[in-house]
Amino acid sequence: MYPIYHFISCIILAIILYPLLGLLSLFVFIFGYLIDVDHYIEYIIKKKSLSFKKAYKYYKYERHPKEISLNIFHTIEFTVLFLIFVILFPNPINLILGIGLITHLIMDIIWRILNKHIKRDFSLIKHLLRN
Ligand SMILES: [Zn+2]
Repeated sequence: MYPIYHFISCIILAIILYPLLGLLSLFVFIFGYLIDVDHYIEYIIKKKSLSFKKAYKYYKYERHPKEISLNIFHTIEFTVLFLIFVILFPNPINLILGIGLITHLIMDIIWRILNKHIKRDFSLIKHLLRN
């Protein structure tokens, strides 16, 4: 999903949460928006380049849709570990981060349903077994 859609959804979610949580609602950005940093990490590993501009251009225009990607923060293993972390250490910030993560992943799943041509491994274990 394009970053602008995550940005807009995070703003809306932060506005909705603001009356309940105040400035803590801004933490929704950490996992709601910045979780896509794993695309940049994947680009650095694949292309051996730190250029953020080239990475953005690669994902927007150059990456072949059939190319299977692994984005570590989008895997079921990361999500389960994070949810266990939230259960073990329940506090408002962790819960807000969890809300941001789940919102982000739901939007990505909807995006993927609408764009079936985009390939991504949602399991780190499955990815490692394949490669
Ligand atoms: Zn994403």
